[in-house]
Amino acid sequence: MKPEEAFPEELREYYRRFFGSEAEKIMASLRTPVEKYYIRVNTLKTSRSKLMGILRREGLKPKRSPYLEEGIYFEREGPNFPDNYEPGLPVVRANRFASESVYQGANLYTPGVLGADKKIKPGDEVQIRDPRGLLIGIGIARMSAKEMVVSTRGLAVEVTLPKFRLPSLSELESFREGLFYAQSLPSMVVAHVLELSEEDLIVDMTAAPGGKTSHIAQLMQNRGEIIAIDKSRNRLKKMEEELKRLGVKNVRPIHMDSRKLPKLGIEADKILLDAPCTALGIRPKLWESRTPRDIEATARYQRQFINAAIRSLRRGGLLIYSTCTLSYEENEANVKYMMEKGLKPVEPEFFIGSHGMGLEGVQRFYPNRHLTQGFFIAKLRKV
Ligand code: SAM
Repeated sequence: MKPEEAFPEELREYYRRFFGSEAEKIMASLRTPVEKYYIRVNTLKTSRSKLMGILRREGLKPKRSPYLEEGIYFEREGPNFPDNYEPGLPVVRANRFASESVYQGANLYTPGVLGADKKIKPGDEVQIRDPRGLLIGIGIARMSAKEMVVSTRGLAVEVTLPKFRLPSLSELESFREGLFYAQSLPSMVVAHVLELSEEDLIVDMTAAPGGKTSHIAQLMQNRGEIIAIDKSRNRLKKMEEELKRLGVKNVRPIHMDSRKLPKLGIEADKILLDAPCTALGIRPKLWESRTPRDIEATARYQRQFINAAIRSLRRGGLLIYSTCTLSYEENEANVKYMMEKGLKPVEPEFFIGSHGMGLEGVQRFYPNRHLTQGFFIAKLRKV
């Protein structure tokens, strides 16, 4: 597949309209995993220097974030072969989900196999391609072609040369002990712009699986109270497991549609709205399927959350609005909507992104400039 086919033409046109000559660079970055893969030290249980030592003993090469005390990152490996590489090996085709994992260094397991050349037997060297034909890795078959397709579980291909490699962390003892949480750098900035204080009533309107909630909890040293809402029961369950792993104790999870937040009759001091979004900034993307129409529909949906947040915020309270997307409508345009409703943007003290499009004081993270996920953060006060 040619790189230009990875994005629908309407979206490419949209990116060109907003980002001009930077559009191609943005799309190229989005197709690759982040150059620096971040984790957050769980300071409820350990310190950065202790965790760095543990990770080194676990065989990794952790580096200190220059921006955040609790940030550690690992350098991405790769690309390990060029885009036009043709290894001439029998082919195993993986589904999109499995392909995105293999592309970053994971092994291929059977539920992710779509098809395999019939002659493949265990021990053969094979190439793995995504559903659109992109070469994502090379490895050794651990099953026959038939088994790969019919089995419902098991290792299909041990990947020896993925296109890229990020560290695999969830099997580590330090992970099980809850010493860290895998979280992107811009996502970690969010808790730092909240001006946290123990006396505050904090509401996280879309909290699961708990990345930002648990970060807020650790910055508050498990004191005060955070109300963490999510509409998805499964994701809320995952959040509760994560909070337990991390030793977080000051979170009250609530299962509800947070557009109905005003019904709780809360006057919050701080509200975090990490809105459901088109996720255009998430990396890597083997291909993108969203179009400008999805952007418009999602921006309208987000305004329902914004309305609920404004009604539940006390006068003088802070609303932090964040997304992991790149569109203007879901970001700056929604901030302008909040301003029309009487909120005032506040310049955050912690600012490591770029300014917004036509709007100062809000933070944008561009995959090509900041080498992060695409991300957006705005801080507003109800005056
Ligand atoms: N803040 C989370 C974190 O840092 O780990 C990620 C949140 S994710 C961007 C958006 C979340 O919004 C999803 O977990 C989704 O289930 C939730 N969501 C979507 N619609 C919702 C609604 N109407 N009410 C509450 N939560 C909703």
